[in-house]
This record gives sequence, structure tokens and C-alpha cells, in this order.
Amino acid sequence: MVEEDPRRRIPGTDTVLGHPEVRDAAHSLGEPVLQRIIHQAQSRARSRIISPEQVVPEVIAQLEGHRPSSLRPVINATGVVIHTNLGRAPLSPAARQAVVDAAGYVDVEMDLRTGRRSQRGAGARRALLNACGPAEDALIVNNGAAALALAAAALVGTGRVIISRGELVEIGAGFRLPDLIESTGAELMEVGTTNRTHLQDYASALEAVPQDERACILKVHPSNYRIAGFTSTVPTAELAGLAQRHRLPLVVDAGSGVLDPEPALPEEPDLRGALSDGADLVIASGDKLLGGPQAGLLLGSTDTITELKHHPLARAVRTDKLTLAALEATLTGGPPPVTTSLHADPEVLLLRARRVAEAVGVDVVAHDGRVGGGGGAEVPLPGWAVRLPESAAEPLRSHDPPVVTRTSGSWCLLDLRCVPESDDETVLQAVRSVLHDLHAAPSEEQV
Ligand SMILES: *Cc1c(COP(=O)(O)O)cnc(C)c1O
Repeated sequence: MVEEDPRRRIPGTDTVLGHPEVRDAAHSLGEPVLQRIIHQAQSRARSRIISPEQVVPEVIAQLEGHRPSSLRPVINATGVVIHTNLGRAPLSPAARQAVVDAAGYVDVEMDLRTGRRSQRGAGARRALLNACGPAEDALIVNNGAAALALAAAALVGTGRVIISRGELVEIGAGFRLPDLIESTGAELMEVGTTNRTHLQDYASALEAVPQDERACILKVHPSNYRIAGFTSTVPTAELAGLAQRHRLPLVVDAGSGVLDPEPALPEEPDLRGALSDGADLVIASGDKLLGGPQAGLLLGSTDTITELKHHPLARAVRTDKLTLAALEATLTGGPPPVTTSLHADPEVLLLRARRVAEAVGVDVVAHDGRVGGGGGAEVPLPGWAVRLPESAAEPLRSHDPPVVTRTSGSWCLLDLRCVPESDDETVLQAVRSVLHDLHAAPSEEQV
């Protein structure tokens, strides 16, 4: 008797779909993704990698492990608070809830009392104005770069933007603020030198601007570098006086967006201070030291903000409802994770690091955290790290959930500054499992 080809027992797609467990596990998945997962399992059975009986269990396992988005939550054990590659600021519990609430239909542009159209994002605007007193009005756009482009387009057009040579910033991934400004049609007028710029440099430039041309003075905070040594910059208050005498706006790009002076970061310009010093417009990002969602914040005088609101580009850089919800909740809720991590107590960090280190028999070493892409260039945040062999870094990233550490010298350093304490046990389990696997499979030189 000829034996039946086992591949004839591979269940067809409809049969697989008929299993209630498959239906349950697939409830939030689109048809094409579901079909692909089933076809892959069938194909593996046809290639005899799995048996026909394993097709349905494999499909269920795949469905259960499937995430609706390819973005994976990770544990940031780098000690870098605002880590651009890890999505900058993690949202506060209040902001996360606000995002979920705003995900459906929401009264973002409707006055529910009258049923008429209302100002978009009025709540977020109000929260921003409450948090930052001296501003008369505010506008929220997509990100800091969009805010700067809108400011240049609306206030200057094809006129001149006067800026110090010490403030021509590359913000990362090859993006340069001077290029961004020029792309709006404005012409840059660089003044001073890399290390020193004086009020007279700005004054001379202003004399050279033709009477009928629009212009502004732009002061940019160098968020990601420091010029030290023989240096000189012009304070905002002095620039404001000069701008006022020439009846031109002073725009301050503060970068990171601390509302009030931050004692831990004395060089970080605060928005309130810049406005009090006379800036007509202050720009900041929402997802740096403010600890909120990606957004560009524009704060200033009523006239200036009105001009921005009415520029056609304002519509192109309009903020999403999820962002508006998260930003308002960040401003009105408890301290966001960025603030908590920035102010983490080194003694508590030491105790937490020791708990992990002692459980797996490794050392704790002193380790400075960093503010990261968001500001506080070069400012060390004293703390501690669990010191692991360098070879642990890759398997920790491949762990579920991924744990991202810092590699320094020939060590993998695990800093708990940005890890919520409730995740310490998860981190410990990851470290334990990775070290166990490393010991079980010693590398060649160890053999
Ligand atoms: C970060 C930064 C920007 C860009 O802001 P995004 O929100 O990343 O677009 C612009 N200017 C300064 C000074 C910055 O620090």
C-alpha cells in the first residue's frame, strides 16, 4: 500500500480560519496580514519544516506575538534622558491617557455647547499660556524645525535673518538650521565670529539692511554643543533693545523648552526668561526637556502669533489632535518621566544598580548620565551603572522587551536613571537570562 503524502493533511486557509482560537487571536488584524501569516505556516508545512498538525498552533502563536505596529517599546538603560533614537521624551501617564482619549472622535474643533466650529487645540494653547506667564499668545505646530520655518516665512519672507556665526547649529542627522531657514526663501546674514559676537556686530548688520526689506534677529540656543574659552554672546535683553529701536522682531529659538530656569542645567535658556527679556517670539520643542509629545511651541506677542497663524504654511505644519491632547496633559499633569529622570537621586540609583548587580554577581561603577539630544550639552548627570561584559549589549537589545544599554570601552553599561523603578525586575530577568546564555556558550577565546 502506498503511504499517503503527509502534505495532503495541511489544513486549507478556510479550515485554519474556522478555528475559534485563530479567530480570537486575529480579531484586530487586517485580512492581508492574517492571510500572510497563514500562508507562511502552510508553506513551512509544505517544506516539511513543521508537520501539518503544527500549522494551526503556529498560526495562533504568530498571531499572539503580533504587534499592530512595528515600533517596539524598549527599556532605555543608556542613562541618556532625551534619546533621539529612542523617541526622545517618554509621555507621562496623564499624556498617555489623553492620547487614548483623543484617539476617537473628539471635540478638537467644535464647541459642543453651540455645535459650531471652535479654535483648534484651545485647551493646549491655554495650558501653555498658563504655564508660561509673559506670553500673550501661543501657537503649536508639528515640531521645533517647523516652528522655525514658519517664523522665518511669516516674519521675514524673502528678507534677512540676522544670526551669530556661533549659533549656526546642525541639529542632527545632517539637518542644519541655516539650511532650513534659507529653504523658506529668507537670506541669512551671519554676524560676529564662531566664538565671539558683540552687540555692535548686530547693529552694523541692521544698518546694512535696506529700509524696505523685512528682517528679524534670530538668537539660537546651541543645544548640542558648547563653545568654551574666549567667548562672548549678546544677552537676549540687549538684543531686544536693539531690535526694538529698529522696529524688527527678535526671535529666540530656545531649543529644549524649559519653561522656568532649571537648576540642574544652568545654561539652558528658559522660555519665561526669554519673553521677560523682550523676545517677540520664543520657539521650543515639545519633546525635549518639557517632556511631552513632538511639537513646536511658539510663544509671543499677540501681533506676532497672529501673523504666524495666518501664514499659509501654518496649515502645512498643523498639529495632530493626539499631540494636542498629550501636550495639554503634559502641561497640566504630574511631572513627566524626563523631569523624574533628570532629577533622579544618585543614592537611589546606586541602591537599585546594586540590587541588579549583586543578583548576578557583577560590579557597579560610577556613570554619568546625559540630557542627550534635548539640551544640557556636556552637563554630566552623576549616577551609577551595572557593569556587564560588552558581549551582553546585543543580546540585551534582542531580548523581549529589548534593553538598550551604553557601550563604553569594552563594557556594556546599564544605567537605571531612565528606567522606571517598576521595570527593575524586568531588567534583572533580562540580564540574568543574557548572562546565563553567554556563560552557556563561551566565546572561542574563553574556551
Ligand atoms: C532641537 C532643536 C531644534 C529642532 O527641533 P525639533 O523639535 O527637533 O524639530 C531647533 N532648534 C534648536 C536650538 C534645537 O535644539
